Amino acid sequence: MREVSILLHSARQLLTMAPAAGGRPKVGSSMADLGILEDGALAADGERILAVGHTDEIRSAYQLRPGGVEMDATGCVVMPAFVDPHTHVLFHGTREWEFEERLRGKTYMEIAAEGGGIHASVRMFREASDETLLAESLARMDRMAAFGTGTVEIKTGYALDPEQELRALRLIGELSRRHPLHVVATYLGAHEIPSVHRGDPDTYVDLLVKRMIPEAADLGIARFCDVFCEQGVFSIEQSRRILETGKRVGLRPKLHADEIEPMGGAELAAEVQAISADHLGKVSEQGMRAMAEAGVVAVLLPATLFSLRAQAYAPARRMIELGVAVALATDCNPGSSMTESQPWVMALACLEMGMTPAEAVTATTYNAAAALGLAADRGALSPGYRADIQILDAPSYARLPYHVGFPDQRDLFLSGRHVIPALRAPELRIRVSGASLGGDELCTGR
Ligand SMILES: [Zn+2]
Repeated sequence: MREVSILLHSARQLLTMAPAAGGRPKVGSSMADLGILEDGALAADGERILAVGHTDEIRSAYQLRPGGVEMDATGCVVMPAFVDPHTHVLFHGTREWEFEERLRGKTYMEIAAEGGGIHASVRMFREASDETLLAESLARMDRMAAFGTGTVEIKTGYALDPEQELRALRLIGELSRRHPLHVVATYLGAHEIPSVHRGDPDTYVDLLVKRMIPEAADLGIARFCDVFCEQGVFSIEQSRRILETGKRVGLRPKLHADEIEPMGGAELAAEVQAISADHLGKVSEQGMRAMAEAGVVAVLLPATLFSLRAQAYAPARRMIELGVAVALATDCNPGSSMTESQPWVMALACLEMGMTPAEAVTATTYNAAAALGLAADRGALSPGYRADIQILDAPSYARLPYHVGFPDQRDLFLSGRHVIPALRAPELRIRVSGASLGGDELCTGR
């Protein structure tokens, strides 16, 4: 019998995700096909999955090597770790005061005029030490792991000047070395127009194109080049210049597109063959058709629109009908989406965008990996795939969007290593120091 380092068995549901050949993103009805095995088992050795099947098949073909991990998953769901394909977790300082001001009715423009908004985060980023930025971001990554995430995309974009944006990239590289989560870096020097160039944004676009993006590519850390293509930020023409420059130096395009206004961001994504277009709250019908045709993944960020109290969410159902591959991400950032939880995003996708729980699972695993060009490597439980696995203490994957706000993850494996989540359900049980619970009179007030 072949010896292996991980043997998981007796799962109530094991989600293989039925990956497509070559890691192609899933579209249409295939988004709901999770390739479920009942009484499922999995064998992995080192970083990779060797086999999945029913418990008796796997146990008769594989045995544990000394020091390996065997796990009984009776009553549990075994599924791929989440991929979070759009985040800004590298930042310093939070903006609760601004949240309260918004609730009192102040507009974003008023808050920005008082020194808030993204420029507050830019100021805090520039002033923070490397160690402060790393410590705060590592804590966020711990929370992501506790909610089942195994791979996180992290963007630069709170520095907005040549040296500090390179510093941000180096810090993302350092996060990758220090944390067990897998990290994918995106260069977003074009997150916003810095205050000094407000009156003359083309000067900043020139700086990006002639210096910042080529220097970022030279560092060899970023895989993607992103731009905030939105009214009042970067225009379609400016975005095209930025993304074409990125392509020339080996960075694949990604866009923040059509979040607030339908301005043709999705169409531009198709034109420049972006790997993904993200947000899309106000995407046009032609934009969706162009994305489907060009194979651009739609990364939807409903937690952001929720936080902004938007009236409408991205048209996920229409996208799925048209054959656009849909992925979901947290957009974790201090201004408009202060969450690390992919299950919370799934809840919004189901409750506000009409996605089914199965589609939401595909959108946070396999299609989320496709939004980073990694769906042949992770986001599925299939032979040859990376052993990035989460075990849910739940009878069905539908627990994820159903049980809002609490992590049901019991275990997490990343590249075949057993990562103990920081928050585990048994450790969250109430303990009262010096006394045992119980014995009080029943309080009947309801
Ligand atoms: Zn974003």
